[in-house]
Amino acid sequence: MRCPICGKEVASDNQNAPKPFCSNRCQMIDMKRWLNEEYSIETLRLDVDEIEKAILDTELGERQIEE
Ligand SMILES: [Zn+2]
Repeated sequence: MRCPICGKEVASDNQNAPKPFCSNRCQMIDMKRWLNEEYSIETLRLDVDEIEKAILDTELGERQIEE
């Protein structure tokens, strides 16, 4: 299985990978692409920022667990 964003091979036994993506970063890139395509309306741009903040918070939280 390959990540649809960066094309990197995703190990099937990698429980941390947000399949089909190899990482949270690629998942976020895909989400932002999708949001930009589907919701290009001015009033919804704030929501995209809020989602991005939530994802960044999640990434920081996971990083702390790993350490
Ligand atoms: Zn990737």
